[in-house]
Amino acid sequence: MSDVERLEQMRARITAATRAAARTDQVRLLLAVKTQPTDRIATVLQTGHDLIGHNRVQEMAASEPDLIDYPHEVHMIGRLQSNKVNAALRFATCIQSVDSPRLADRLDRSAQNAQHQVDVFVQVNVSDEDTKGGVRPDEAEELCRHIGTLEHLHLRGLMTIGANSTDETRVRAGYRELGRLRDAVLASGAPGTEAARELSMGMSADLEWAIAEGATMVRIGTGVFGERPA
Ligand SMILES: *Cc1c(COP(=O)(O)O)cnc(C)c1O
Repeated sequence: MSDVERLEQMRARITAATRAAARTDQVRLLLAVKTQPTDRIATVLQTGHDLIGHNRVQEMAASEPDLIDYPHEVHMIGRLQSNKVNAALRFATCIQSVDSPRLADRLDRSAQNAQHQVDVFVQVNVSDEDTKGGVRPDEAEELCRHIGTLEHLHLRGLMTIGANSTDETRVRAGYRELGRLRDAVLASGAPGTEAARELSMGMSADLEWAIAEGATMVRIGTGVFGERPA
């Protein structure tokens, strides 16, 4: 089966999960392209798919110049080091992995210099696994409030990488917590947080659980490209 056929399958899973959750809103599919060669990404973009996520600035900078013929939105979904912020903003219009006030400040300055607005998500570590980035759940609202004060950042929502587990109860509890945090941020009425509606959560293996818990965007890699070589 081709990447494009698998993308169609993933779309069908998203549609079915959205219906099963009795939701009438749209769930966006972000294609996670880490380690994929540019021509494989191009083949998918050729079909009109228009949202991709990179994990590494270096890979983004290597492939994006060859993809300019395909209109698409680029999000950064991997950990972002301060010294790569300028490079990231050359291609990415949204940074989903903001996990400190320091990184937010750095992004705001860089966006100001480039004279544009940058969309951001706050990444939250809901599973408390050490290997994952993100703020602790109890720090999320404060970081959202801080971002709300920054003139060149536009807070769009929260992002998490779910628990690395096949235990539905455990994985869904983490996603539900992200939803509660998002609701609390919206209810806070803090300036600059009014548009923080998105929940970026769920990957190839567990998108149904994430959609049942309110995901507005799922991030899919292996479901389209197959397993990455070890
Ligand atoms: C790789 C990756 C994904 C996609 O995961 P798959 O299991 O390959 O679908 C989603 N989010 C992030 C942050 C990733 O690094």
